[in-house]
Amino acid sequence: MRAGLPDFRLGNVLATTFTGTLSERHGAAVERIPTPDRLVDWLALNGLAVDSCTTAQLDLARELRESIHAAATAAAIQDALPASAVQVINDCSVQGRAAAVLTPEGKRQWRLSPASSVEDALSVIAADAISVIAGERDGKLALCASPTCQAAFFDTSQSRTRKWCDMNTCGNRQKKARFHANQRKNLRPAE
Ligand SMILES: [Zn+2]
Repeated sequence: MRAGLPDFRLGNVLATTFTGTLSERHGAAVERIPTPDRLVDWLALNGLAVDSCTTAQLDLARELRESIHAAATAAAIQDALPASAVQVINDCSVQGRAAAVLTPEGKRQWRLSPASSVEDALSVIAADAISVIAGERDGKLALCASPTCQAAFFDTSQSRTRKWCDMNTCGNRQKKARFHANQRKNLRPAE
């Protein structure tokens, strides 16, 4: 961990974990990959280790991130997919070279090209976004109920009624807000 920089949120779905590197988009936004080094850290944490990252590659990563966010948001509310976002996702998917390989333990791993470039890693993320947005996976895209967040997340709960992008942050905050509102109500003298 690098001191003084926002930590990462963990998730099970690569594409929406990636869009979660910018949180509170409708409030006080928190950029969790503020530097190329932090993108390298995030990629390594998500099984996509790369050798290095330039500022231009960080810009490309953020462009892909916001395009996935825009397309996933449109898909969640059953709106038409924004053409420019689709273009960026497709370009990133096509440009990188990555291959899925099976480990002896039966787990999938991503092998990037010998250059292990950021573009390779982004192609894996873009392909993940495509499978989610195309409805190929078991789950449903939804928007976080927190007004300052509204992040697109992939609901894999059995009932498909998850409300928050992340229970530990948005969900917890809402619970606390409700608790304090109740406390205030209870403290008010009877009229
Ligand atoms: Zn949220």
